[in-house]
Amino acid sequence: MIAEKYAKAEPELKAELKKIAEQIVAPGKGILAADESTATIGKRLQDINVENNEANRKAYRQLLFTTAKDVITNHISGVILFHETLYQSSDDGKPFVELLKERNITPGIKVDKGVVPLFGTDDECTTQGLDDLQARCIQYKKDGCHFAKWRCVLKIKGKTHPSRLAILENANVLARYASICQSARIVPIVEPEILPDGDHDLARCQEVTEEVLAAVYKALNDHHVYLEGTLLKPNMVTPGQSCPKKASPAEIAVATVTALQRTVPPAVPGITFLSGGQSEEEASVNLDAINKVPGKKPWALTFSYGRALQASVLRAWSGKADQIAAAQDELIKRAKANGLACQGKYAAGSIVSKAADVSLHVKAHAY
Ligand code: 13P
Repeated sequence: MIAEKYAKAEPELKAELKKIAEQIVAPGKGILAADESTATIGKRLQDINVENNEANRKAYRQLLFTTAKDVITNHISGVILFHETLYQSSDDGKPFVELLKERNITPGIKVDKGVVPLFGTDDECTTQGLDDLQARCIQYKKDGCHFAKWRCVLKIKGKTHPSRLAILENANVLARYASICQSARIVPIVEPEILPDGDHDLARCQEVTEEVLAAVYKALNDHHVYLEGTLLKPNMVTPGQSCPKKASPAEIAVATVTALQRTVPPAVPGITFLSGGQSEEEASVNLDAINKVPGKKPWALTFSYGRALQASVLRAWSGKADQIAAAQDELIKRAKANGLACQGKYAAGSIVSKAADVSLHVKAHAY
């Protein structure tokens, strides 16, 4: 029986997890994913000719986290940090975690240790980092993090990929991660990302998304994960990047909502999409269209964007101290656009930012 299955989780623990998850997906709000690993942020900095060193990484994250209190609070409920960033402070000595708390933003932390090959498969992968995860989660909770992220990656290739092994292995590792997080009073964001690389069509992406999510929820149930205290971070259902037949936002929205209706239990409080290489404007327009699909949508449908919240910010900043305010304005614009989109209230093209239409696709994206 369900009640017995979850018996080990104390009522106080369950209440705490549920409250954190619900706060993150409060109406009109979503997540800024600023948890790029040192190598990944290095690529972003390289694009704007800024050296990838600790001082510049800190300067950039300080720019993000010092954005106007009254404005950013209205649209961003959580920020995902990378380990290094969690322990950094602003130039005047205020820990970044404090800057976020002042803005009513919940700090979160990336806890996976990256994607590794699944030996014996055709270029498929799993994600590592379970070994010392419990100790790290306990420490992160003490240091102010209340939610975590773990990203798994699946690839579509013809009719055979992702393989059964890749689907089962990634579902299981996500469920084990989620269970460990909850034992340390941390809400797990479960992220099975199906990469957009390939020439598959919309229907194939929907089919694979359904298969992957069904396996993920079976594994979460097997591991007695308390769904009310979790969030899902999936890809939107889109045609592959090199599919000749493009899909409209309305088609993407229906395919995405249908896949979610078929696989994600209503007990899950929220679904926070990744942007997956969509341009900033596409990510806003598609999220808006998803929220406009009529019919059953028993979860909050919002954003947890990395690239689609930061592309214009990076461009505007370009490492120049006198461009910080201009860069923060770009963050506010995209946060507002997505804050509206997650309520189905964004008018396409109504908020114009510096890099709004630039494709942010990165082949075989690492994070
Ligand atoms: P993108 O929005 O850039 O896809 O990144 C979100 C994320 O956190 C991927 O793990």
